[in-house]
Order: sequence, then structure tokens, then C-alpha cells
Amino acid sequence: MAVHVVNEARRCLNCKNPMCRQGCPINTPIPQMIQAFLDNRIDEAGAMLFANNPLSLVCSLVCDHDKQCEGHCVLGRKGAPVQISSIENYISDSYFDRMKIERQPSNGMRAAIIGGGPAGITIAIFLARMGYGVTIFDAKEKIGGILQYGIPEFRLPKSILKRYQNKLKQLGIHFRPNTAIGGAITIDDLFRDGYNSVFIGTGVWRPKTLGIKGESLGNVHFAINYLNSPDNYELGETVAIIGAGNSAMDVARTAIREGARHVTVFSPSAHPKASIREIEYAQIDGVNIVCGKSAVEITEEGPIIADMTKDADGNRIIHKETAELFKADSTIIAISQGPKDKIVSTTGGIQTSSSGLVTTDDEGHTTREGVFASGDVVAGARTVVEAVYYSKKVAEAMDEYMRGVKDSQK
Ligand SMILES: Cc1cc2nc3c(=O)[nH]c(=O)nc-3n(C[C@H](O)[C@H](O)[C@H](O)COP(=O)(O)OP(=O)(O)OC[C@H]3O[C@@H](n4cnc5c(N)ncnc54)[C@H](O)[C@@H]3O)c2cc1C
Ligand code: SF4
Repeated sequence: MAVHVVNEARRCLNCKNPMCRQGCPINTPIPQMIQAFLDNRIDEAGAMLFANNPLSLVCSLVCDHDKQCEGHCVLGRKGAPVQISSIENYISDSYFDRMKIERQPSNGMRAAIIGGGPAGITIAIFLARMGYGVTIFDAKEKIGGILQYGIPEFRLPKSILKRYQNKLKQLGIHFRPNTAIGGAITIDDLFRDGYNSVFIGTGVWRPKTLGIKGESLGNVHFAINYLNSPDNYELGETVAIIGAGNSAMDVARTAIREGARHVTVFSPSAHPKASIREIEYAQIDGVNIVCGKSAVEITEEGPIIADMTKDADGNRIIHKETAELFKADSTIIAISQGPKDKIVSTTGGIQTSSSGLVTTDDEGHTTREGVFASGDVVAGARTVVEAVYYSKKVAEAMDEYMRGVKDSQK
């Protein structure tokens, strides 16, 4: 039987110093939300969730709750913590479609949002509420970024993203799909066309490579590419996955659902990097996880796997003398992603780090006036809730900047 969220909510002690809130990266008002819910004020509970975090409905499903809110609940010290994620999900899901987001009258200014992932959606909602005209440009067909093209359906139903798309439309936000900025249209074109500021939230989509022989073979793929459209891949019965973070677990569990029978994840470290929850679910799905091993080469017959350890300085050492073929029909490399440089290479004045991430200050100002950035393209591969948290601050900085520009034109 499903969890009864009412029973879970009744377990909450309404702590004076709620540790759950401190554990939440976006400081969700958890005890207040639970109290409003128990007092039959569910819309009030929903309103406080969305005012604080426009992606509450998504975060209730995909955050690492064991480490965050639930991991900090005092009840977890001696027993089970309150299942905050289920309560938040119930409230957000019931409230979402009837939520009316108030919009200030148009202030005559426009913002261009490049990238419709969690960072871009957050900025778009905050700026639209303040009265800005907002257009989201995305290289892909649908909004959501990794939520749409990375996290699998069994963890985050795509219908939720459709509901977000409708909500953005109700707010008057324009969406230009299939439009990669840095191609036919550049940031300079956006300023030419009257956008008062530009936001870059393009995430990290360039797969990191192992730098070993065999990565370009026909039966070798990268995690982010595979998760984009798993139905297009014929992986065969036996699949080897190199890397053991959350993306690797998503790939493994998707491959099993797509028909693979033997899926093995090779973790370079002694403990897989993925969250315990994701590891447990992957194992329940039948995924085999092997620790302390990585690939030294990939062949058409499968990867050549060797032991891996760390020296006293934490550097990884591969023991080539232990190398042996692991027979697999396909190999998937899942060792994270870095940024693409399409925008930066077509726009002057935007500084990046040595790894290509966009350089900003704490409020998201890039080194080019009027251009802001946040999310994974600034911080590297992180989480949805972190992208939302920083983007809230950046939306305020964009508002301040655009109002300044308007005042200087008076
Ligand atoms: C497989 C996988 C699973 C994950 N699971 C979780 C999870 O369970 N929980 C969690 O909290 N986090 C998870 N993450 C991380 C999380 O999804 C990201 O941290 C988050 O999506 C970052 O948001 P973003 O808006 O910065 O970027 P993205 O979500 O990457 O969105 C960027 C958008 O920009 C668009 N874009 C890129 N270049 C251009 C361009 N030149 N012009 C126009 N548009 C462009 C892209 O098409 C995309 O839509 C996962 C990541 C991966 C890869
Ligand atoms: S820490 Fe646990 S018991 Fe205390 S307010 Fe938060 S959810 Fe309720």
C-alpha cells in the first residue's frame, strides 16, 4: 500500500528549530507546510512551496532527500524520519494545476533566457512575475533540460514537464524550441532585437571521455546521449557501464527496462558515487555493481577492465597487469559531462574557467554587461535544487540590472 501522507504529516513534531529546513538546500518551510496541510489549508501550503521553489513538484521526486531534508529530521535519529518528500509531492501535485501565479503589469522590458532547464525555468517564472516579457530559447524540442532528456520517465514522469510548459504559457512566457543560440542567432542578435538582458542556463551536455582506445566504436555510447532517446539504441543483452554516479544508475535501470538482461556497472572507486537510494533501486532492478575497477580500453567484444586504487595523495592508479576482457554487447561511458562552448565561442567578453564553465560572481553577473548565468553551466554537474536556489538570486540581480538601465534612459 502507498504511504499515507496524512499519517506521515501527523508524525511531524513541528520543531522550534527545524533541522529538516536546514538540511534543505533551498530552505523549504517544511514545518509550516505540514501544519497548513494538516489544518486543511492545502492551497496555502502549496502557495508557500511554489513561492520558495517553483520546481517544488520536481524536487519532491528527484532530490536526494536522504541526504537533505529527511536526512536531517530529528525523528530519523532513533527511527524513521518524516517522509517529507511524499508530503511535499502530494501538496505540490494537488495544487499545481489550480495555482494562479500573479503577474505584475508589463514594465516594457524583455529578457532572453537561453536554456529551458531548471535554471532557465526558474529565472523565466521570477522575471515574468515581475512584469518582464520573457522568451526561452532551447536547442531541444521540449522544455526541461536534463529533466526532459536525462532523468528517466520512471523517476520523473514527462507529464509533469508538460504541466510546467502549460504553466509557463499561462504566464505569457514565449518558448522557442529547436533554437540553439550560438548558431543562426547569437547573443549579439538578442541585444540587437531589444532584449534588455540575457541569461545563459545551458547546462553541461558534452560527455566527458575516458581518453582510452575504443571510445568511438559503434557499440560504445555516452550516458547523456543514450538517456536522450533510449528507444533508438540496440544495446543487446549484456551491457557494461563505466562510471557509477547517478547517471550511471539511470542508464543501468533504463537499459534493463529496454530489454538488456545482464547489466554491470564498474565503479572506479571502492564505493559508487551514486546516492544509496539509487544504488539500492539499481540492485533491486538486477544491476550488478563492481567496485574498484575501470576500463583501460574498449573493444567490439566489450571493455577491458582493470583494478583501480588510489595512492596516498588521492590520485587514481590503474593496475594494467590485472586487465581482462569483460564480454559485453555494448559499453556505456557514464563519467559526467562538461559544458559545450557554442555560445562563448560566438560571443565576445564572456569569460570561462579552464574547464569551460562560465565565470560569474555570486549574483550571476558574467564578465559581459547584461549577460547573466547560473545552473550547471556555472557550477558544473550538480542538482536541480541547487540550480533553482542560485537562479532565484540571479533573477533578482537581472531585475536590478534592467531597472538600472531603464532609469539611466529616463
Ligand atoms: C542523467 C542525469 C540524472 C540526474 N538526476 C538528478 C536527480 O535525480 N536529482 C537532481 O537534483 N539532479 C539530477 N541531475 C542533475 C540535474 O538534472 C542538473 O543539475 C540540472 O538539470 C541543471 O539544470 P540547468 O538548467 O543548469 O541545465 P540543464 O538541465 O542541462 O538545461 C540546459 C538547457 O539548455 C539547453 N541548451 C544548451 N545549449 C543551448 C544553446 N546553445 N542554445 C539554446 N539552448 C541550449 C539544453 O537543451 C537544455 O534544455 C541529473 C543529471 C543527469 C545528467
Ligand atoms: S525535523 Fe522532522 S519532526 Fe521536526 S519539523 Fe522537520 S519534519 Fe517535522
